[in-house]
Amino acid sequence: MSDGKVYPVKEAAKSRALVDKEQYMAMYKESVENPNAFWGEHGKRLDWIKPYTTVKNSSYDRNNLSIKWFEDGTLNASANCLDRHLAERGDQTAIIFEGDDPDNSRHITYRELHQETCKFANVLKTQGVKKGDIVTIYMPMIVETAVAMLACARIGAMHSVVFGGFSPEALAARVKDGGAKWVITADQGLRGGRPVPLKKNVDAALRHDDVTTVEKVIVVQHTAGDIDWHEGRDVWFHELMADASTECEPVEMNAEDPLFMLYTSGSTGTPKGVLHTTGGYMVYASMTHEYVFDYQQGDIYWCTADFGWITGHSYILYGPLANGATTVLFEGVPNYPDSSRIGKVVDKHKINVLYTAPTAIRALMAEGDQYMKQSTRESLRLLGTVGEPINPEAWEWYYNVVGDQRCPVVDTWWQTETGGILISPLPGATDLKPGSATLPFFGVQPALVDGDGNVLEGATEGNLVILDSWPGQMRTVYGDHERFILTYFSTYPGTYFTGDGARRDEDGYYWITGRVDDVLNVSGHRMGTAEIESALVAHPLVAEAAVVGYPHDIKGQGIYVYVTLNHDADPSDELKTELVQWVRKEIGPVASPDLIQWAPSLPKTRSGKIMRRILRKIAANEHDSLGDTSTLADPSVVEDLIEFRENT
Ligand code: ATP
Ligand code: MG
Repeated sequence: MSDGKVYPVKEAAKSRALVDKEQYMAMYKESVENPNAFWGEHGKRLDWIKPYTTVKNSSYDRNNLSIKWFEDGTLNASANCLDRHLAERGDQTAIIFEGDDPDNSRHITYRELHQETCKFANVLKTQGVKKGDIVTIYMPMIVETAVAMLACARIGAMHSVVFGGFSPEALAARVKDGGAKWVITADQGLRGGRPVPLKKNVDAALRHDDVTTVEKVIVVQHTAGDIDWHEGRDVWFHELMADASTECEPVEMNAEDPLFMLYTSGSTGTPKGVLHTTGGYMVYASMTHEYVFDYQQGDIYWCTADFGWITGHSYILYGPLANGATTVLFEGVPNYPDSSRIGKVVDKHKINVLYTAPTAIRALMAEGDQYMKQSTRESLRLLGTVGEPINPEAWEWYYNVVGDQRCPVVDTWWQTETGGILISPLPGATDLKPGSATLPFFGVQPALVDGDGNVLEGATEGNLVILDSWPGQMRTVYGDHERFILTYFSTYPGTYFTGDGARRDEDGYYWITGRVDDVLNVSGHRMGTAEIESALVAHPLVAEAAVVGYPHDIKGQGIYVYVTLNHDADPSDELKTELVQWVRKEIGPVASPDLIQWAPSLPKTRSGKIMRRILRKIAANEHDSLGDTSTLADPSVVEDLIEFRENT
């Protein structure tokens, strides 16, 4: 991973941004030296029903763990996203809906969104939902999903959104874990021109013997496709909405009352039910949205994530709406009708900020520039990425081809657990280095520790921990506080352990090297997966690569590489030899791959992340113990790889 390239802050970004380099440094210093004053001030960005008088109250001592922010304040998240904007911008577009079908889009104003939310909040009340209850939402990316989430928040119910691409089994496990009595779904979703049988999946999930809590299934009619109907249990959304009142007082919530629970992606094991509370989360989501994307009134902002992930919660819904933004809600996929879609949607809605994931960037890059070139993208001013380390090669393509060298790229590192972005450039303040998430956000104190938990100083590499609490931090694993303490606060006592490894360079920039569990130890050399993968992706014929260790008699661990080639490349033995030489040249002999396997595609989570733990098992020939595969996007990929493995 070369530190070589630096892209200095652009004048255009600097002249409009909230903070430049000096201001960032001054504010950062204040935020960590005096968090109570800093967050006490910035907490005022929300409308509080009863203002807080205390700010931070946290202890990372595992025997006395406590994380509380603004704890005597009260507020309502939906009122902060809707009601407070009505006077000034009731007629402004809150959501631009862009359907799966490119001819289907519409604008929803703040006033309309407020009305729909109030109506559905009243519906939920008539269905018996009360403050503190859990409601499972299993929906496509449509406006009703935003309405459902905001309506839950309005009456103080916790939503638990389950990604609409999950199987009935994965849905069943999540419904069971939360014990929801209500499921909100749609007849069908639409993705890439094909229907997704959401209601059918709900029916199948609820047939599981151990899913016993659900009393009502509220069904949005979206495609009007054929579905089964369970009299007494199933109810139509539109029928309930027909005569619901548009008035609904938001419930007064304590800052520490739960807002939602949400499961992690499951890249490293069984997903964790992450619980976020109201005050700190909302302050942090809205503040990071404003500063990281330099959001200003009138900007059109598009995050391509799904509501099923934290990115959809914090940066499609809560952060943008709290800021009175216009947020784009995309139902479809980047390659439908073809790979020019993203660029065309940008042109259609004159989008200024695009926030997407490395998996999408790599996929579009592999298709070639001609698709992107079918749009002007001249409205874009900022690009963002999240979800995995972005290979410098993909970063450069994003910057050069998608952003025409005009738009800064903010590589935002964070987790479901963190609620919002923790490490990221700020467009007016931070010089960029492709592949680095750069510097911490206000109030965030990252540190690198060695295996014994000693804090390492200067330019170095280690396990990434956070030394003190920030407002958006998760408060517990739902129903399993012990797991919360064990997972995050026990490995390196006194710190929050992220599970990721990172390198810090001479400028204090952070480079995420991958999951700590994935670190390779080859002949005594410790190596992150990201660096070798990036070297491979830099080869002109390689679309994607995943690196894992496997047992090796001499080296301890050997380097096993899965490579997906560009569509036009020929998978020959000569190319394997060439790739080995390539990595030796890019990084050095210690990183040279021992085995290369061609992979038509890689196993990914439903949120698009490479699942190296499964690749590790395949490499080690342990096909019978793949672990939790329920979060896998396409199980057939694994079968293909096992078959290929046997022929390698
Ligand atoms: P699980 O915790 O269930 O294994 P997960 O960690 O993939 O799943 P998420 O919370 O969706 O679940 O993802 C957070 C992780 O994604 C981070 O810990 C990090 O490994 C990776 N990540 C996110 N953004 C970035 C980024 N900008 N650069 C590098 N890695 C990133
Ligand atoms: Mg994780």
